[in-house]
Amino acid sequence: MKNLLSLSLACSLLLSPKSISADAGPMANSKKVSAVEYLYADVSDANSILGTIDSGLLSTYRGKDRAAWEQFYREKRAKLAKKLERLPGSGLSGGDIRAIAAMRKQMKAFTGGGALFGPAAKCQDAARKDIAYPDLNSSLVACFVEIGNSLNFEGNKINRVSALDLLHETSDPGRRKAVFFAFVPLWQAINGSNEPDSPYRRMIAGASAQAAKNGSEIDNAARDIGIDAAEVERWLVQILDAWRESSGDTMVEPWDFRFEAGQADRLLGTYIPRESLQPINQRYYRDLGADLEQMGTLYDLFPRPEKAALAYTEFVTHGRMVNGAWRPTVARVTAPYERGGLFVLNELVHENGHVVNITAIRNRPAFVEWPSDLFAEAFADVPSWSTYEPLWQRRYIGHEAPEQLSLRALYSVVVLDVAWSLFELRMLRAPLTDPNALWTEITSRYLHIVPHPELSWWAVRVQLADLPGYMVNYGLGAILTAEMRQHISEALGAFDTGNPRWYGWVSEHLLRYGSERDTRTLMQDFLGRPVSPQALLEHIHRLKPVSLHATGDHSTDSAGLLLFCRPTVPQDSPSFHHKDHSLHGMDIFCGISRYRNDVRGFPLFKGTDLT
Ligand SMILES: [Zn+2]
Repeated sequence: MKNLLSLSLACSLLLSPKSISADAGPMANSKKVSAVEYLYADVSDANSILGTIDSGLLSTYRGKDRAAWEQFYREKRAKLAKKLERLPGSGLSGGDIRAIAAMRKQMKAFTGGGALFGPAAKCQDAARKDIAYPDLNSSLVACFVEIGNSLNFEGNKINRVSALDLLHETSDPGRRKAVFFAFVPLWQAINGSNEPDSPYRRMIAGASAQAAKNGSEIDNAARDIGIDAAEVERWLVQILDAWRESSGDTMVEPWDFRFEAGQADRLLGTYIPRESLQPINQRYYRDLGADLEQMGTLYDLFPRPEKAALAYTEFVTHGRMVNGAWRPTVARVTAPYERGGLFVLNELVHENGHVVNITAIRNRPAFVEWPSDLFAEAFADVPSWSTYEPLWQRRYIGHEAPEQLSLRALYSVVVLDVAWSLFELRMLRAPLTDPNALWTEITSRYLHIVPHPELSWWAVRVQLADLPGYMVNYGLGAILTAEMRQHISEALGAFDTGNPRWYGWVSEHLLRYGSERDTRTLMQDFLGRPVSPQALLEHIHRLKPVSLHATGDHSTDSAGLLLFCRPTVPQDSPSFHHKDHSLHGMDIFCGISRYRNDVRGFPLFKGTDLT
């Protein structure tokens, strides 16, 4: 994810026809604006440098410590506020007027430091009835740090990202259920016992009231795509319906959903150890024409107790012209990775999609900022969806999962995001709704998940607490991702195994504008037509119900042996009996194990289904 604090600007930047009118001295005034704009760039950099220091990544930057940066920030910010106020209201070009509006709006979002997603608030305060939105949000985000970073599992502490990954990879049904229930303390902190004044239910009521006044993330996303909120809901339902129709009708328990869909994660998990994440990620982007090392991107990928409970990307410094030459943007990526695996690798590639997005911006300082949330999240998935393509897997991991299994793994994650999007849309519209009942209705109807209205198992995403409605940027964003991937492939050729022209081309056509262009116009110009959900719907409809049963208990034959398969000949287990089958062009080796141990990376199939 990107940093949620940035503002969507598209609306405020729409140019009023009046402001274009020619007048006496736009050039002279432009110089005044330009001077203010470079002051703005200093303040903006100091703000993001303070955020970097407070994230725990660095203690000094460019030789200055936190105190020095804070002093610099305060002085320059005060000066900037005055200068912005004094800029002339007329005699300006349209570009200058939009730049001023952008600077004023973006400056309001500056925090002057503070750790993102690591608030000073305490989780226990979420239970206090005298705390309301938005302070309640900070307490709920703190719960993700305090509780989500140390879930109890088998006598050890694991974090939320690892637990979600283990739900894909743990073959033993009992262990899998135990991972799922490790989230209970987090669910309780967020939604109590689902009583009408639980922390989440009080918070969403406040968020809904706020949204009625100022618009919500859902409204922003609708505007960014050129539709209304009712149409957003229809599109989300269409995607969920496509999954419902193409995923068979067997009901699964919520602790089995990710596992059932995650066979590709298990086939490849053993080939993606934690230490391979960055080399694979960097090699892929190099092949796309983007050298992350040369860009000076900073990485902070190890877990720490106080660290943000999710992965995000943010500016360290903003690119700008210095003495006639472009000084590039420097970005940083923060994540709490304890484990490797395909699910985690996909997320790292997504984060670096944000990096190449903001690094590609070439514009005046006012616009060297994030594009809309919807566009940012959708674009970050353009490269990251390739990790679920067999060709990509073969090149970067050396092994591949069958296409159907890979795509099922990818779209299962996408439709979960869509389910959360619909959940938030409906909660914001009717905040007195019982969230557990709503989540149960959505997931049982569209994802074939056994109803468990007694569990608040939806409460595992930091975004739900940090910025209610944000999930739509992933759910609806998937539509833009599918559109962009298709259009780039048509215009430029395939890029799943790299394409050296990719980065230059997407920079030129999509990324260089930063926050200047609104997403609706950008996408319309890019595609030559309005955005449509058709590409994504076709992809999901192409999935076939998988007949390979993946649960360990189901694949036990009458003699109590486990049948399982993997994409290479195992060197290490004498109990395998090799038998190769060709499935989607890949040799699969199946074996029988007398051991009932968890066999991470070895999906369990019925032998007959493979022929
Ligand atoms: Zn993102």
